Amino acid sequence: MSSDTFPRRSARPVPLGGADLSASIRADVTTRTASLVALGVRPTVAVVTATDDESTAWYVRTIAATAERTGIHCEIHAFGPEASTNRLRTALVELSRDPGVHGIILQTPLPKGTDLAALRDAISPEKDVDGANPVSIGRLLANQRAFAPATAQAVMTLLDFHDIELQGKTAVVVGRSIVVGTPVAHLLVQRNATVTLCHRHTRDLAASTRTADVVVVAAGVPGLITGEHIADGAMIIDVGTNAVADGGLVGDVDADSVAGIAGGLTPVPGGVGPVTTALLLANTVAAASTADAIDRADRGDLIGAAG
Ligand code: ADP
Repeated sequence: MSSDTFPRRSARPVPLGGADLSASIRADVTTRTASLVALGVRPTVAVVTATDDESTAWYVRTIAATAERTGIHCEIHAFGPEASTNRLRTALVELSRDPGVHGIILQTPLPKGTDLAALRDAISPEKDVDGANPVSIGRLLANQRAFAPATAQAVMTLLDFHDIELQGKTAVVVGRSIVVGTPVAHLLVQRNATVTLCHRHTRDLAASTRTADVVVVAAGVPGLITGEHIADGAMIIDVGTNAVADGGLVGDVDADSVAGIAGGLTPVPGGVGPVTTALLLANTVAAASTADAIDRADRGDLIGAAG
């Protein structure tokens, strides 16, 4: 081993944790929620599910418990795995109209054959706190005000929290889903990074990712990214949350393999996940803070105001 590679390879990547960031977002949400409650608006988020998948139920309970701790009310609308597109669409339209609901989360997975596009369309953009409606994505791509998908927003917020420079840097995003990879790539471009978006048809993934100062991985493939994919000192954001047999979670990055090469790596769990949950709540408070919600409170339309 040559003397110049030894010190570089011996350093562990800096853990780019999300716990402190998510705690500070939640503290801010708690303060803002208390102010809204004092005005007669109880920020409320509705989560719609249609599955009997236990890990989804666990995730939704986490959102609900975190919400209630900040003072936000969380309604869970669980329709079960037999729910039809029509049934779910009707529920989303009703929630979109309900003045007591400020944020709507449509939780995947949904039953096989569900028309996901029809459901996403049914979420009012003003309440679309997880950026699922194509109108929200379109506004985002047009650099207009909109809720970004919360996971994509969490990636950007984590990069900023850890002071990772983006201007003029090379970023590679692995995975082009409409809720993670595609919006993250766009948000990175907005921040003046030069971005490559890779996906399952990318011929030589390692050749692309090795060019990156910043790698964001959202492919849903455990162990996809190893040391051979990473340039010395690259910062890696691992969005993957893959359930493993013992009930734990692993990301898309092989943490042992990139150790000593990467400059920083988000832990899984404890990286992007808690920040995403906190941002869903922050978006709900932002939605509840709109002039319209406050106006209705003034008129006594909301339960909190009427009570
Ligand atoms: P998520 O919701 O985590 O973004 P999706 O299943 O919707 O997950 O999307 C997975 C994305 O990851 C797709 O864009 C797909 O092309 C990409 N992907 C899957 N496997 C690989 C792979 N082996 N190499 C590169 N990209 C991959």
